[in-house]
Amino acid sequence: TVGMISLDQMGSIAVGTSTSGLFMKKPGRTGDTALVGDGFYADSEIGGAAATGLGEDIMKGCLCYEIVRLMGIGLTPQKACDQAVYSFTKKLEQRYGKIGEFSLVALDKDGNWGVATNVEFTFAVGTEQDKPAIFIAHPT
Ligand code: ASP
Repeated sequence: TVGMISLDQMGSIAVGTSTSGLFMKKPGRTGDTALVGDGFYADSEIGGAAATGLGEDIMKGCLCYEIVRLMGIGLTPQKACDQAVYSFTKKLEQRYGKIGEFSLVALDKDGNWGVATNVEFTFAVGTEQDKPAIFIAHPT
């Protein structure tokens, strides 16, 4: 999946996602990427989030909605990503044992961003002033 969150000069947040789904997926499968709240979510008064990875697991937590909800009650994008992703990962592992790999990114209405992953994850951050910078996130 390719996911993107943008904040424009008027303060609007937009999130876009695109995927080919999973390799060897069953015909008719719908992953998280196309589903509001699972693969993406945006609220211009708060921020946005986008996901990549195993949709079947991402969908169990409505993770993008959860991250935006947490930012809405005052968490920074990084704290919201950490809280949503790592508490969810722990819960899934306790319940199901091994779980899929996934990564989430978030941006708030002030331009602060965060990321959380349970695998190595490469992402880019750009601003009007600065060219996109590449980062690599690791699970914490
Ligand atoms: N999230 C996508 C899906 O489950 C797969 C991906 O991110 O590559 O369909």
